[in-house]
Amino acid sequence: KPLVQLNGISKHYKNGNEEIYALDDVDLTIYKGEFLSILGPSGSGKSTLMNVLGCLDKPTSGNYQLDNNDVSALSSTQLSAIRNSKIGFVFQSFNLLEYATALENVALPLVYAGVNTKTRRAKAAELLKRVGLGDRMNHKPNQLSGGQKQRVAIARALVNDPQIILADEPTGALDSKSGAEIEMLFNELHQEGCTLIIVTHDNALAHRTKRILSIKDGKVVNDEKLN
Ligand code: ADP
Ligand code: ADP
Repeated sequence: KPLVQLNGISKHYKNGNEEIYALDDVDLTIYKGEFLSILGPSGSGKSTLMNVLGCLDKPTSGNYQLDNNDVSALSSTQLSAIRNSKIGFVFQSFNLLEYATALENVALPLVYAGVNTKTRRAKAAELLKRVGLGDRMNHKPNQLSGGQKQRVAIARALVNDPQIILADEPTGALDSKSGAEIEMLFNELHQEGCTLIIVTHDNALAHRTKRILSIKDGKVVNDEKLN
């Protein structure tokens, strides 16, 4: 059974009289444990696809089955619940709370999930150790390097045991050494069975994943499995 199944997904925007097809009849099947990149130039529809996959946004038409749930028909509130329990997000710009420590940043999604303080702190500490930041738990983002901030963001993305990690240009703001370390962490998560989707315009990065979905003008133009 696929984890993700998109059938005929389209997303249209009206720009005055002009209609923009940000996604145009996209079909996509993703199985648990896949390490996939969504590759395309600027304006091709990558963010729109990520927003639909991540239940941040509803398609104009088409069907989206996520883990045997039909999510295309859900309300914004229902989508929010799905998003918080099933999806972990990683962004280019980290999106950490500046005034919160690494531990507090990682624990935050568990506050919304109603988990008690002690369990939250234990889970966040465990994940920070997992990403190599056991000695940085009480540091705030401005006391951390870019690569360390992205590790905090990855720990936060993992804290609700999501079924999918969606990463939008996760190495885009990093120097090449930190970027390589983040890629290594993704590879380890892949080895451990996580389902990872990386959205990128970086052809070389995409070729280091296991499958490349190329999109152009809102359409899937190639779907390539790699070894
Ligand atoms: P990418 O992430 O590959 O750069 P996007 O998904 O952001 O591409 O955009 C795909 C197309 O949809 C572009 O032409 C963009 O201008 C358009 N678009 C995206 N979001 C909106 C929006 N909220 N309103 C109008 N047009 C949009
Ligand atoms: P960009 O595509 O300009 O690099 P981001 O990667 O920060 O922007 O965000 C990608 C998409 O996710 C955007 O549509 C944005 O509104 C949404 N988003 C950004 N931050 C969050 C967040 N913390 N929680 C939920 N959605 C977010």
